[in-house]
Amino acid sequence: MTRLRLAQLYPDQMNIYGDRGNVIALQQRCAWRGIELIAEPIHVGQQVDWLSYDLAFFGGGQDSGQALIAADFLHQQSNGLRAAVAADLVLLAICGGYQLLGHYFLTHTEEQLPGVGILDVHTVAGKQRMIGNIVIEAQLSTQPAPVRLVGFENHSGRTYHGSGVQSLGRVLKGYGDNGSDNKGGAVYRNVFGCYLHGSLLPKNPQFADHLLHLALTRRYGAARATELLPPLDDAVERNAQQTMVQRLVQ
Ligand code: GLN
Repeated sequence: MTRLRLAQLYPDQMNIYGDRGNVIALQQRCAWRGIELIAEPIHVGQQVDWLSYDLAFFGGGQDSGQALIAADFLHQQSNGLRAAVAADLVLLAICGGYQLLGHYFLTHTEEQLPGVGILDVHTVAGKQRMIGNIVIEAQLSTQPAPVRLVGFENHSGRTYHGSGVQSLGRVLKGYGDNGSDNKGGAVYRNVFGCYLHGSLLPKNPQFADHLLHLALTRRYGAARATELLPPLDDAVERNAQQTMVQRLVQ
């Protein structure tokens, strides 16, 4: 049986607004294709062989949750994770997880939480939270046309991009990374960070399959990855996604 392994970072502290649904969506979309996706939690203090994983997921968290794990993420995991990213590990990070992949997060109480700097972004809390539905338009390399990704954002952090990342998408509705430059998420190699809770992947099956395609390509090669990922009947999901886009974007 074809298998993939996924590491879920700090699920006890970093899992809000249904972010765990992203792991469930990846598992289910794999199962429908006869692929077993084994998801394993990564806890504070754990020794991790990052090169043995195909995918990783880092969910959102409150500032207090981030403060509990930021030092461990930096000192215990960042070197191994950075090496795996250089070897094209597929990593999705949402909101609080996205912030800690950057250089730092300066919270509204002026506490500077260290990030690991795998993504060339930094985050500074603003006075007003950015809350609401969000739509970004993303060009995903495995998709023939741009995809409008829908989600829900709720963050005080404003994330600013450096030159080492590309934007995941252009904000069509909502605030996006910082409310001022239309950037919606960041990409570096196979690492994706953004503010779309939702859960993101059940709502946006094209993005879920994009991540699986990248992970399967890394392990089995591109031709085999395409064979292993036949299209699914996503009529219900795509209909819901389009309905939201129509309601939110003029
Ligand atoms: N605590 C962070 C912020 O408010 C992240 C919040 C989240 O993950 N939803 O910016």
